[in-house]
Amino acid sequence: VDPDLRDQWLARAHAELSSAGRRSGAARTAVIELLAREGQCLLSAQKILDLLRAERRTSGASVYRALEELHDLGLLRRLDASGGVARFEIVAPGRRHHHFVDDSSGSVRPFVDDGLERAIEDAAARLGVVLSGHDVVLRGRSVASMRA
Ligand SMILES: [Zn+2]
Repeated sequence: VDPDLRDQWLARAHAELSSAGRRSGAARTAVIELLAREGQCLLSAQKILDLLRAERRTSGASVYRALEELHDLGLLRRLDASGGVARFEIVAPGRRHHHFVDDSSGSVRPFVDDGLERAIEDAAARLGVVLSGHDVVLRGRSVASMRA
C-alpha cells in the first residue's frame, strides 16, 4: 500500500462527493475507507462485500450502490472480467500500472511498462490532447498454461 496514493485518493474522494452535493452515508464511508486501504489494485465487488461484512458494516445493496456512485464520479476504475466479475480499484493520477486478464481463469495480473507509458504520452502529443487518464487491458492466456 502506497500511503501517498491512499491519502491523495481519500482527499479527492471527499472533495468530489461534497462538490457533487452527496450526503455522506455509513455504507459509502465504509466502502471509501476500505478501498483507500485495499483498493490500489483490482478488488472484486464480492471481495469488497466480504471484507465489509466481516467488519459487520453494511448490506450488499448499499455497497453496490456506493461502488456505482464512486465509479460514476470517476473515483474508481472498473474492470469486467470473464464470468461477469466486476473488479474495482482507485483512480490515482500517480498510479501507473495496467492489467493482464487471463481468458481461461479470469485471473488478473498487474504490470508496469515504461515503454507503453511513453507510447501513450507520444500518442496524446500527436493528437494534441491532454489526457485525464488511460486504461490498457491485455487479454489472453499465459504461455505456461498453454504448455500444461
Ligand atoms: Zn490494478
